[in-house]
Amino acid sequence: MPSPTGLGMASDRARARMVQNLRDLGIRSAVVLEAMGSVPRHLFIDQALASRAYDDVSLPIGHEQTISKPSTVARMLEISLAGLDEARRGAATVLEIGTGCGYQAAVLAQLCGQVVSIERLRALHEQARANLRALRIPNLRLVHGDGRAGVAQAAPYDAIVVAAAAGDEVPEALLGQMKVGGRLVAPVGVERQSLHLVERTGKFDWELTILDAVRFVPLQVGKS
Ligand code: SAH
Repeated sequence: MPSPTGLGMASDRARARMVQNLRDLGIRSAVVLEAMGSVPRHLFIDQALASRAYDDVSLPIGHEQTISKPSTVARMLEISLAGLDEARRGAATVLEIGTGCGYQAAVLAQLCGQVVSIERLRALHEQARANLRALRIPNLRLVHGDGRAGVAQAAPYDAIVVAAAAGDEVPEALLGQMKVGGRLVAPVGVERQSLHLVERTGKFDWELTILDAVRFVPLQVGKS
């Protein structure tokens, strides 16, 4: 998404450095790196923090929430989309729980056929809508609601990415909204959190793999 302005060129360079850093940190997926190289992360955060937009840090987005650091977004997307070849990705429907400022949803929309992203806080849902407007992303739908119930209308999903930490386990409704062969990635835990990868291997079968230690804001109950 090139921009003719000076800031655009500076941000192109900053994004290229971010992508190189992600490679150095072990992100291998070429398509994830390319998508993150194309989405202007500085447009999703407060102007006062824009100079740090491409550093590998999480930043406040208001309402006690944060935008995840780039390496965490890259890792979540790499894990959740692993195994989908280009044709299947292009046809895939993906659900994100926790839109926040909308950054990860925008990256997902570069990678997948259809993206649905749900946020429980109306203020952030509206903020994401405003952030995303200029980017005109036709294959991304934003929903205001409690993501612990998933979004049944667009289910089943090829992949589900949960961007807030469930206390002890992945909400059961989400398991039921996965396609057979689909993958779900979610941080789980309170004091100590780790990424859980759930693969739906059959109509009644799910396999859990516990991956990296992580730090996310909590998945909360209800919308407001
Ligand atoms: N995806 C964002 C990260 C957002 S932080 C990014 O691109 O960086 C996690 C978000 O999850 C917060 O905005 C929080 O309000 C939201 N959240 C927490 N519990 C939720 C729930 N039950 N349903 C939907 N969103 C929830």
